[in-house]
Amino acid sequence: MTGRSFDVVVIGGGAVGLAVGWRCRTRGLAVAVVDPAPGAGATGAAAGMLAPVTEVHYGEDHLLELCLESARMYPGFVEELETASGRSTGYRRSGTLLVARDADDNAALGELYAFQQELGLDVRRLRGRECLELEPGLAPSVRGGIFVAGDHQIDNRALHAALVAACERSGVEVMRRRAVGVVVEGGACRGVALDRDDTLGAEVTVLAAGCWSGSLHGLPQELVPPVRPVKGQLLHLRTPPGIPPLAERNVRGLEVYVVPRADGRVVVGATVEEKGFDTTVTAGAVLDLLRGAFELLPGVTELELTETVAGLRPGSPDNAPLLGPSGIEGLLIATGHYRNGILLTPITAEGIAEAIVARKVPAVLEPFDPVRFTARAVGHD
Ligand SMILES: Cc1cc2nc3c(=O)[nH]c(=O)nc-3n(C[C@H](O)[C@H](O)[C@H](O)COP(=O)(O)OP(=O)(O)OC[C@H]3O[C@@H](n4cnc5c(N)ncnc54)[C@H](O)[C@@H]3O)c2cc1C
Repeated sequence: MTGRSFDVVVIGGGAVGLAVGWRCRTRGLAVAVVDPAPGAGATGAAAGMLAPVTEVHYGEDHLLELCLESARMYPGFVEELETASGRSTGYRRSGTLLVARDADDNAALGELYAFQQELGLDVRRLRGRECLELEPGLAPSVRGGIFVAGDHQIDNRALHAALVAACERSGVEVMRRRAVGVVVEGGACRGVALDRDDTLGAEVTVLAAGCWSGSLHGLPQELVPPVRPVKGQLLHLRTPPGIPPLAERNVRGLEVYVVPRADGRVVVGATVEEKGFDTTVTAGAVLDLLRGAFELLPGVTELELTETVAGLRPGSPDNAPLLGPSGIEGLLIATGHYRNGILLTPITAEGIAEAIVARKVPAVLEPFDPVRFTARAVGHD
């Protein structure tokens, strides 16, 4: 290894990579995070919902547990991060209202509510009138809803800026450089190969490059993390002076969601598209998102459209993240967070830092073993 050496080098400076770097640093390790454009990935494109209960899906029990635990960690994580960085993250304990536009939607919400109750989640079924009492800006035709008091939001871009600041203030080196590969010698990962023929030595390397995590050189084919980009388009709007807030809480229909920030900005999202690494914003998506938001909250037409965004979620074969040892000594993986990476940032960071310091993967991360797909593919389980 020709270049400098660290205890930990993290590849990827999205929310996940930076948070891992910061938590390793607070445990006393010498850390570098490498990323040519920190924040330019999914982290900057997200809506920032922290929504384990509204996002629950059948057959994802372990993931639900992980998401709930991370949501519980959020207040403490945010407090520590805001102190360490001197910046606000826009964490807002607003709750989330799921609403049905019509009878069909309401039947679907009825099924979701039954499932959420079966899981013992904190949910309340509401009639249309009760939804309107909570959110007077809703379309008067709203048929019913589910109120989820514990599903909140954070301003994902402010979170990212706070993580960069906390890292830099605490002595993490955030290097604006691209990793081209991992350096594997004698069966162990010794560090990271950078652009311009540079290398960084590392006792432990953490691969946290989001949907690009499968594109680095140096890993044997069977251990390359099976992540893929899942495109999501969303809109940023702003409430002009004199117009009342569109909503107080996150409002979700079955097709779109509306996330109101405390300062009048509003995010409307999101498409879910299998389009490879394409990040084109399409007129059709803008039309669908605005129409969907209008059906829930007609006042959206009064808002200023300030930005259209397309980002790439790091999807995995089972929609759950890949967290822990890669199968190569000295290399850990922290990616594949798909739709919940902002929510899962605190638990990922704590869990990976713990795995590095204690040399043992904490129990909560065990179901997310990165080699679970490989083992199955070669018939080991
Ligand atoms: C439209 C949309 C809406 C979303 N909404 C939510 C939401 O409401 N709540 C939620 O919890 N999650 C949401 N997500 C998902 C969430 O954004 C992701 O799961 C999360 O941001 C993943 O973070 P990450 O750090 O792993 O990846 P990213 O943020 O993608 O970061 C990866 C980083 O790796 C860097 N990189 C790539 N290649 C290299 C290389 N060779 N060398 C060095 N660095 C490299 C990139 O520059 C990038 O900065 C949403 C995603 C999208 C797209």
